[in-house]
Amino acid sequence: MELKNLLKQIFYPKNLTCSVCRRESFSGKSICEGCHAIMPYNNKSVCGHCGRATPYSVEYCDYCKDKQTYIDMARSVYEYEYPLSLLVRRLKYGGERYLAEEFAESMQACYFKSIGYADCIVFVPMTDGRKRDRGYNQSEELAKALSKLICVPVIGDVLVKTRETESQVGLERRERLKNVKGSISIRNRALIKNKRLLIVDDVMTTGATLEVIAEKLKDAGASEVVAITVASVTSKKWTDASREDEISEKSDKEEQKN
Ligand SMILES: [Zn+2]
Ligand SMILES: [Zn+2]
Repeated sequence: MELKNLLKQIFYPKNLTCSVCRRESFSGKSICEGCHAIMPYNNKSVCGHCGRATPYSVEYCDYCKDKQTYIDMARSVYEYEYPLSLLVRRLKYGGERYLAEEFAESMQACYFKSIGYADCIVFVPMTDGRKRDRGYNQSEELAKALSKLICVPVIGDVLVKTRETESQVGLERRERLKNVKGSISIRNRALIKNKRLLIVDDVMTTGATLEVIAEKLKDAGASEVVAITVASVTSKKWTDASREDEISEKSDKEEQKN
């Protein structure tokens, strides 16, 4: 490396622009102090099972209570609110792949605090076609970035998405589960036998996708399945969040056409 560039790296931190407001960040961090102050950290009371924000700490929130679940525990770093929601959309639809590494740093702390340990990481699969359109699978990017930080290997060739699922918006939980169930298959079962697996994803909305994956992993011999996501949506806000997601995806496709 040229001396000039080396000096530049030492004296000017790499992220001078805030990932949220795009203004200059003087804190040396990728999110400026002003934006950092309004990030919706999910660090108050949460459901002991799904990790969604709750008014007070409970073992099972209203949503998890009396439901059969294959996920042993889920945790999320943020609530899916502005400005985090903006960053997630930029990662998913705006091609801003570098955000995966930034999110992984905050997931690392959450992992050690609440999840503790895992034998292997898996991520939510995408069809080849979708991955080609988007350029990458954001769950895979998050999984790989987190893997480096927590030293747990990613096993990428276990879950396969065989077909696109129709829009989940407006569907009841049971319909969502059915919708997702037929679209994911498992390979290389030997890799996950008797393992404690960590599923990594961007946002947990209803959790339908994560549940289906957990069920398949357990059927295939995994001993435990835990999940970590960048953000989670509290149950009252599901419909809005998935609609918002669908709108972003549409506008992203329209932008690509132009
Ligand atoms: Zn900012
Ligand atoms: Zn819950």
